[in-house]
Amino acid sequence: MLANKPILVDLKIIIIDTMKIRKIINQLDPYVPGRSQDEIANEYGVKKEDIIKLGSNENPWGPSPNAIKAICENINNINRYPESNLKDLKEEIANYSNLKSENVIVGGDGADEIIEVLAKTFIDPEDEFIVPLPSYMYYEFIFKPYGGIPVYGKWNIEDNSLDVDSVLKAISERTKVIFLCSPNNPTGGIITKEQLETIIKATDALIVIDEAYYEYSLINNTELIDKYHNVFIMRTMSKVLGLAGMRVGYGLSNPKLIEYMHRIKPVFSLTRTSYSAALETLKDKEYIEKSITNGIKSRDYLYNELKKFKELDVLKSYSNYILMNIKRTGHTASEFSKELLKKAVIVRDCTSFKGLDEYWIRASIGTLEEDKKFIAILKELIK
Ligand SMILES: *Cc1c(COP(=O)(O)O)cnc(C)c1O
Repeated sequence: MLANKPILVDLKIIIIDTMKIRKIINQLDPYVPGRSQDEIANEYGVKKEDIIKLGSNENPWGPSPNAIKAICENINNINRYPESNLKDLKEEIANYSNLKSENVIVGGDGADEIIEVLAKTFIDPEDEFIVPLPSYMYYEFIFKPYGGIPVYGKWNIEDNSLDVDSVLKAISERTKVIFLCSPNNPTGGIITKEQLETIIKATDALIVIDEAYYEYSLINNTELIDKYHNVFIMRTMSKVLGLAGMRVGYGLSNPKLIEYMHRIKPVFSLTRTSYSAALETLKDKEYIEKSITNGIKSRDYLYNELKKFKELDVLKSYSNYILMNIKRTGHTASEFSKELLKKAVIVRDCTSFKGLDEYWIRASIGTLEEDKKFIAILKELIK
């Protein structure tokens, strides 16, 4: 039995403990994730079923039915530790990517875990990594605690393309990793193969091509892995493959690098249920095909409808979200997204993205029905 005595707090101990916290933890900018349905339902008094969630670039049609079935079948075994070598899943991912098992590493906290394994594999204190802004903010959130120093390149908003020279100029002797996100989150633009190869050839640093959304762009860069020693492609099952809640991501590279990364990767991070859901989703070709074609249809519909608002500057997207500048509505992104929340629509206020000012909103694709409701609500808000 635990004693039910009042706990005496020793202030001296608390002060000493605080002082032991690593300096970097005090200096870190918090990561701002997209908001959840439960959170919004509570805060804005809207019904959870009514919420249109366009904030986190998920698959709005739900997971593969085969994944649900596999999860249910595996529930009985959760008293046992999960797989650690992930053999079947690696083979299925290799098939899906036209590579071999030894080119594959799987992450159990999604691709976010792969970013962390990259940091553990490459980053000593004071090493530099390059990110063109604006891009995915999670890279620096993970790399900084390992002592990595961010050096920023530039993404051109005007024509939604990478400023290759800005990346080349940012390279130094200390550069260990360069993050190139294509399609880029949050802008939706792509990096051409020619641009990628220019950067790959200019350095020995590891080029991490983040292809979380590559299925929507219909562009594949895996051939670069055979061609160059310093290419790493990162992907996820959270977006088009409909498993954001199961947390499965993967990396593709040459077998030697993959072997190094396996030395440091968490051993049991992929749960039994995640493992089986991932495996069965990849086998469900019909689901994948449909998710891609429906996703592209929804994106093109949203783009055409959003373009009709003369108050919005809309960026062309190769992904499952669309970035827009709303300055001419007379509101900031923070104000505007709150107005949308009152009407049960969640979008991403991009104020926390470095490299963007306070007037940008990112909206993910919904089902066609959700898209139509979203556009109707926008018409009410923008008069
Ligand atoms: C969503 C996303 C990821 C990773 O997602 P996980 O859910 O951790 O797999 C990685 N990169 C970009 C650009 C993303 O948008």
